[in-house]
Amino acid sequence: MDYRNMIIVKVGEIHLKGLNRPFFEKTLINNMKAALKKFEGVTVSISQSRIFVYNIDPKDLDEALEKLSKIFGIHALSPAREFEKDIDLCIKNAVEMLEEAKITNATFKVKARRADKRFPIESPEIAAKVGAGILENMPNMKVDLHNPDMFIEVEIRDRGAYVYFEDVQAVGGLPIGTNGRAMLLLSGGIDSPVAGYMIAKRGVQLDGVHFYSFPHTSERAKEKVYELAQELCDYVTRLSVFVVPFTHIQEEIYDKCPDQFMTILTRRFMMKISERIARLRNCGALVTGESIGQVASQTMESLNCTDSAVNLPVFRPVIGMDKLEIMEIAKNIGTYETSILPFEDCCTVFTPRHPSTKPKLQEVIKAEQLLDEEALIDEAMQMVERIDIDADGVIYTQKLTDMAIWQEYKKALI
Ligand code: ATP
Ligand code: MG
Repeated sequence: MDYRNMIIVKVGEIHLKGLNRPFFEKTLINNMKAALKKFEGVTVSISQSRIFVYNIDPKDLDEALEKLSKIFGIHALSPAREFEKDIDLCIKNAVEMLEEAKITNATFKVKARRADKRFPIESPEIAAKVGAGILENMPNMKVDLHNPDMFIEVEIRDRGAYVYFEDVQAVGGLPIGTNGRAMLLLSGGIDSPVAGYMIAKRGVQLDGVHFYSFPHTSERAKEKVYELAQELCDYVTRLSVFVVPFTHIQEEIYDKCPDQFMTILTRRFMMKISERIARLRNCGALVTGESIGQVASQTMESLNCTDSAVNLPVFRPVIGMDKLEIMEIAKNIGTYETSILPFEDCCTVFTPRHPSTKPKLQEVIKAEQLLDEEALIDEAMQMVERIDIDADGVIYTQKLTDMAIWQEYKKALI
């Protein structure tokens, strides 16, 4: 065979990076390798700012494209042929590929790119010659320079020559691991997985934290969150979710604090505990799925009370979105169906009848002082479990107190 099947990978925003570019490219390549791990023998390499994937078994091509299309940093993917730099081979391979794809009756335009300037024929002439060659071999194909059914792309590069005509759209964004780490507050709802997706898309590595109120919420509600985490792993590869027992804290707030502040106090505890775990994991921010005005705890005043519980910045990527817009993204990324499964969340169990929509911070803090905050948080922290999840499900669990970082936590408290 005088050609190799391969995939040409087009990066998106990485193009805009200056001196940092090699770091972004290297991270992207590592992420791609991790995603393609199950396909034996596959290699990923870079040359002249293009990333190339080789040795994919044709039967695995669709699955590999599907996996790669969800890797942040990739803009588009083109299954291609690589062969020696020769104009007749460009024609031969283009014709064979079209026939293989059963495209014999379409209008086309050839786009040529000569990245190897040593190649003696200039781009416009390459395009003209390949176009003429296709017409000669395929009587029902027609050239249309203005409104073609398809573009046939020919590239002459240092490594070889390439032909392709398919562009599989990928998610774009920046490679995960190029923009630090953040702690996602992951509930079982629609909004928080979308929020996590949006922040991860900017190259941020995620950790998750989930609060549950057994026996007020069922084991199944927790499993639903693991399922959502698993679905996010299509994009983030692996996620550690820290699960925090929240029952005692909620019962204490319920028993001892004014009813109207139940929700806002709950939110403040969630933020404080999330922040503690976030710091242990070197997370630079917290991420929530809050959107202005969606519920009582998401009015401007409530968000202000929530924010002031912590020092880390709180990222809320869906803050300005309508529920319908958030649902649309949830459907696209594949979390929606799981999110709408009918299992209760710890917040809904204790929802007060008349939550304050305009809480005043001083009053909230006064209510909070009715509780032994430090003891409650510490008790919860002692029971935190870390659940590591990948695209196949739970792969590892460990108690936070058994992790090395627990010693740091205790030291910080003294
Ligand atoms: P979602 O649809 O994501 O559940 P929501 O619209 O139901 O959000 P709330 O229940 O008020 O809104 O929660 C707001 C945000 O607080 C969530 O998007 C999530 O980031 C966080 N959150 C709520 N409940 C939990 C929980 N049990 N564990 C972790 N985070 C939570
Ligand atoms: Mg919720």
